[in-house]
Amino acid sequence: MQLAKRLEKIPPYLFAELNRKREELIAQGVDIINMAVGDPDKPTPASILQAMREAIDDAANHNYPPYQGTQEFREAVVRWMERRFGVRELNPNTEVVCSIGSKEAIHNTFLAFVEAGDYTLIPDPGYPVYRTSTIFAGGEPFTMPLKAENQFLPDLSIIPEEIARKAKMLWINYPNNPTGALATWELFAELVAFCRQYDILLCHDHAYSEMAYDGYKPPSILQIPGAKDVAIEFHSLSKSYNMTGWRIGFAVGNAYAISGLSQVKTNVDSGVFKAIQKAAIAAYSTDEAELKAVMSVYQNRRDIIVKGLQSLGWPIAPPKATLYVWVPVPAGYSSTEFATLLLDKCGILVPPGNGYGASGEGYFRIALTIADERLAEAIQRMQDSGIRYC
Ligand SMILES: *Cc1c(COP(=O)(O)O)cnc(C)c1O
Repeated sequence: MQLAKRLEKIPPYLFAELNRKREELIAQGVDIINMAVGDPDKPTPASILQAMREAIDDAANHNYPPYQGTQEFREAVVRWMERRFGVRELNPNTEVVCSIGSKEAIHNTFLAFVEAGDYTLIPDPGYPVYRTSTIFAGGEPFTMPLKAENQFLPDLSIIPEEIARKAKMLWINYPNNPTGALATWELFAELVAFCRQYDILLCHDHAYSEMAYDGYKPPSILQIPGAKDVAIEFHSLSKSYNMTGWRIGFAVGNAYAISGLSQVKTNVDSGVFKAIQKAAIAAYSTDEAELKAVMSVYQNRRDIIVKGLQSLGWPIAPPKATLYVWVPVPAGYSSTEFATLLLDKCGILVPPGNGYGASGEGYFRIALTIADERLAEAIQRMQDSGIRYC
């Protein structure tokens, strides 16, 4: 037996060493506070569960679903995109495809567009799939560093002309995982113009579209006039509605890109269980209150962590969106050294920033997906161990 060479090209799992340590500490009976995983800990809202229960009993939902998603689901998406973002006149038949969570659609879009020798422009730090899927497709990732001094937005002026010409796609993700950064209209408009100039597919991963605080409403790239000529956007119900296990999302935007993605999908998967599509329709028709209830839990946790870190000398502001707090490591430590220190001294598990790309060096990420008391205890343990930013 011999595994395919392409698997050798996938970067090694960067958390391997931390995980080994974690296992060791657990074996010694240490109570680990795991702030590493961005997986919502609360149940899916009741109205969505009810829609699922009803849909499960209907035999019409038991056979293969249409590849691109049910007509009803795609129409619900079009209505939601208009209501939520003011994006009008999307065609449910050509500009929307249902996906098995957004990770699947993200990966398959690389397969649809990238050939050997093609470049992709991807953010660093960023969601690891952009890099691995580029490699799976035989392409070359070109990383766009996201820097604090630039509000964690990409600087297009550093992209060499010849790379831009060889690039097939450019990926962004705002609100951003892992930095919590927000897009600006100026950036969106600049990206649309850049991708138009170089004939690049602009891909916006909008996994955190509903996960914002303090009244902020993340915009869609499709709100930029003419964006649909070059852009598609990936949405997911996973994080916003505590539905990570359900596996449903959609891609929306440029019809040519949607048809390419759909062609890959038709040959690889057989759609999303129709009952789950019904549940997603219910999610998109829930009232604001339900989403607010989900977000108020995270907002409270965010405030516990940010205030706690501030009390230990960290110069950080509360993020306006996402499930994450992106935290600089104190002077004298690398990301990995500081994450190791937190694990050894405090039993706190966090991913080091360089796990999200080289430009994540100097940071670590806290996920707000554990109970308030545990977050407060993490701060207490840091204080007791004398860990401070300065
Ligand atoms: C969680 C996440 C996704 C994938 O979520 P799905 O569960 O596959 O919908 C995609 N992009 C980013 C940035 C994420 O954090």
